[in-house]
Amino acid sequence: MRAIITSLALSLTVGLAACATPPMPMRADLAIRNVHVVDTRRGRVLADRTLLIRGDRIAAIADASTPYAADLEVDGQGAYAIPGLWDAHIHLLQDDADSALRTAPVLLSYGVTHVRDMGSSARALTAFRAGAKSPDLPVILASGPPFWAFELPYGDKSQQRIVGDAAEIETAVRDTAGAGADLIKIYAGFEPGPMAVLMEAARAQGLRVAGHAQPGAPLDAQARLGLATVEHLETSTFAGCDVDPDAYFERIIAARFRGSGETLPAIFTAFVADIDRDACVAMFRRAADAGLAITPTLTATFLPPATARRLVADLLPAQRETCELYLAAFSENDPVGEAAYVAAGNALMEIVHASGLPILAGTDAPAFCGTAGASLAVELELLQLSGLSPLEVLQSATLTPARVFGFGDRLGAIEPGMDADFVLLRQNPLVDVSAYAEPVGLFSRGKWRDQTELMRLRRSGPSN
Ligand SMILES: [Zn+2]
Repeated sequence: MRAIITSLALSLTVGLAACATPPMPMRADLAIRNVHVVDTRRGRVLADRTLLIRGDRIAAIADASTPYAADLEVDGQGAYAIPGLWDAHIHLLQDDADSALRTAPVLLSYGVTHVRDMGSSARALTAFRAGAKSPDLPVILASGPPFWAFELPYGDKSQQRIVGDAAEIETAVRDTAGAGADLIKIYAGFEPGPMAVLMEAARAQGLRVAGHAQPGAPLDAQARLGLATVEHLETSTFAGCDVDPDAYFERIIAARFRGSGETLPAIFTAFVADIDRDACVAMFRRAADAGLAITPTLTATFLPPATARRLVADLLPAQRETCELYLAAFSENDPVGEAAYVAAGNALMEIVHASGLPILAGTDAPAFCGTAGASLAVELELLQLSGLSPLEVLQSATLTPARVFGFGDRLGAIEPGMDADFVLLRQNPLVDVSAYAEPVGLFSRGKWRDQTELMRLRRSGPSN
């Protein structure tokens, strides 16, 4: 009996010894060693890993002892790897395709690998699609011309699609799809009837509809009609909260342009006090159940004036003008008013946040004080100041947009099998939100770029 046990133990030892022979090294095109990988689903940090990339996919996240053989090896120097960032609301194409092609590489230098463009002429969109061949561009989902239910006496008509009856709506949706749009943007004036026609026409073309909250129905009803994302934190966003958003909007216009004497902080403080918070949370929850997400664009709608004053110095001249226009709504040296304004914005965000409505990071750049790329880091900081946890902030620019825009199976997380689309940050963004502002490496569209290359892309952008 003992002999049998001994020989069994012996064969077991031999078996273990066989297992202990070194496994074949994993083959990769690129290995980035010495990085901490941030898990966007659970908020964990996988320390001291090696990212192995084959082609444009993540092949493995190996620990430091795993042998590998790679064509190119990079020392991550203890950087934190997060998925490539999304700006879910930007106006990159609004001028023309050439200026968009010059600006777009700058986005990569800020770690932005995907954007959703929310308004351009159909011509600019078509020209951009034809010219955008470089890998040094983010992936761009684009709406083409925003849809208006009526004509306005101002604004660039090439960037508005004015549609009246059902036949016009259907033709415009077909044209926009034909120009290469990925979604339809709804701007203003659609009552529930025409809105339903627009939703149906878009569905027939396989396009979703995103945009401003429309009149005549609470936001949750608009979500049930098919509105996929609502843009901005403005009074109309709160239709359905037992408040009259139009009355407050009129007061804002009167204060800004007609010298009514009221201040924005006073109007928004009154607006927040007028909202039935619990009813509003319930309304947003119903909207979330119907599939809605929100892009608050705090950098455009609730930018603290103190932050705007800091940004204005670094803006290009044309941009400085629109930023100063934003600041004109605030009197200088009124810290009490400014604090009230920020508090009102945070109170509105608290309602949104409490409802569980998915939140998307978007900048509306170059509106007001916004610039492509740089504004996303500001937006993420403002989202955190408004009450989101550091993980929710990270998700708002990675996991959530990837899921909401239909790429959840390959983007938004750094995992084997997912697209190799990630940014390296010097610091942990879950500890320090300012980490987003200065990426030190980026992999997207099959290409690695170190910090020097990112700075070259940033300098290649428009400079006057
Ligand atoms: Zn916009």
